[in-house]
Amino acid sequence: MKKYSWIKKALLAILIIIVIGLFIPENFKMPVLGATTSSYNKESFWYYPWGKSGTHKGVDIFANTGTPIVSATSGIVVYCGQLSRGGNVVLVLGPKWRLHYYAHLEKINTSRFSIVGHQDTLGMVGTTGNAQGKSPHLHYSITTLIPYFLNIDSSHQGWKKMFYLNPIVKLKK
Ligand SMILES: [Zn+2]
Repeated sequence: MKKYSWIKKALLAILIIIVIGLFIPENFKMPVLGATTSSYNKESFWYYPWGKSGTHKGVDIFANTGTPIVSATSGIVVYCGQLSRGGNVVLVLGPKWRLHYYAHLEKINTSRFSIVGHQDTLGMVGTTGNAQGKSPHLHYSITTLIPYFLNIDSSHQGWKKMFYLNPIVKLKK
């Protein structure tokens, strides 16, 4: 089966890359500068009902408009720009194949394919997208590209918990 040997090599290379990604430590940091445990509601993850999304798939970290937002982990910016609900958003691919989503930014201070870490400002807290008219906050969520089937529970849309991780357990540190 020599014909398919390159496919095997390619699959092996992909597997190695995936495994390496899983072992990069996350070194999580609070993404809103100066925020504390009283800057967010500890029960807000998966809050239901929550507008068009059904459940709240992240955490809202409240701070004054213009407060710097730094990258919670190291990673690479895979998207930054405008989305209807999110407003100005930044999406960072971080360790363990997790996507970190930063929404409602007043201003974006990074660009696509930038390598970012704790020292890098991604943007500023604001009220863009569906946060318009509300208190300025960062909507922050973590999605995993590798499904965690054990996280599924009987809550509303509970099956989606295999992709949406609870960021609040990390913020507490
Ligand atoms: Zn939110």
